[in-house]
Amino acid sequence: MEELEIIKPDDWHVHFRDNDILKVVVPETTKHFARAIVMPNLTPPILNGKQAIEYKERIIKIIPKTHNFEPLMTIYLTENTNKSELYDSYQEGHVFAAKLYPAGATTNSDSGVRDIKKIMPVLEKMAKVGMPLLIHGEVTHKEIDIFDREKVFIDQNLDFICKELPELKITLEHITTKEATEYVDEGNENLFASITPHHLALNRNSIFVGGIRPHNYCLPILKREKHRKALIKVATNGNRKFFLGTDTAPHLKGDKENACGCAGVFNASYCISILAQIFENYKCLQNLEKFTSINGAQHYGIPINNEKILIKKEKNPILFKKSLSVGCSEIVVFNPEFPVFWKVA
Ligand SMILES: [Zn+2]
Repeated sequence: MEELEIIKPDDWHVHFRDNDILKVVVPETTKHFARAIVMPNLTPPILNGKQAIEYKERIIKIIPKTHNFEPLMTIYLTENTNKSELYDSYQEGHVFAAKLYPAGATTNSDSGVRDIKKIMPVLEKMAKVGMPLLIHGEVTHKEIDIFDREKVFIDQNLDFICKELPELKITLEHITTKEATEYVDEGNENLFASITPHHLALNRNSIFVGGIRPHNYCLPILKREKHRKALIKVATNGNRKFFLGTDTAPHLKGDKENACGCAGVFNASYCISILAQIFENYKCLQNLEKFTSINGAQHYGIPINNEKILIKKEKNPILFKKSLSVGCSEIVVFNPEFPVFWKVA
């Protein structure tokens, strides 16, 4: 197969940031995606409907006129989130979902939740009205090994939420482990998971090839090969519980190549090409569309996109641009360092 037409994809997890970075990264997502769930972890975070509306307006100003794109906004849950205000923002359509960050789990998550029990009334309300909960599923206790934090979160927190509120629509975001694939696959009907292109492409060795590779550092951190294979399996076999959330997360080069570098991989530019290559490598191109364009919309209960995109296989590997300029700095573009022949036409 040298050409593939698929329903236009959605990105169910994107970081657009704000200001100068926002201007540069938005078109990289809007050129290939019809919709994206926009993360609320700005500094300061998006805590209510009013802030979400203002942020959405800043995003919409930047979308190129030729791109048909809808940003879906989120609220950052804290132990002080007002449940009736959250409900109103959801009912009025200003906010699509709420995001749970365990305090300290990733970039700008300091105001996140320390004790899940404190937000149970908010989660109960969300379950009642059908509002999706998006979860960064890692514990943050210093004594837990960084490679085990997702599994421990599932055991200690996610299982509790799922048992208390089986009717709550949950996305366990950017899963990275075999345990997560199994828990979601066998778990309750309303529990789904998103997977990033970089966790499908790389295992944890890629952080340390011949020296430290800050551009492959992300959270949750890359895991062992057996975990990557488990992700590949559920993504490429068309399993309806798993879908694309790129977690594209731009940082300036100087903040990545740093004695204390930031976590995040900026993958928006070639995401669809990389995924097509991975799915072809595993002889599952026929399931690409389910992962990028169908499963997520079905989970969120919204229509599948009408538009289509064409992906073509080139004779030679496509050449990736190395970075995007932001003022006098730049954002390094994710390159999985295997040949990618597929190009979005
Ligand atoms: Zn993220």
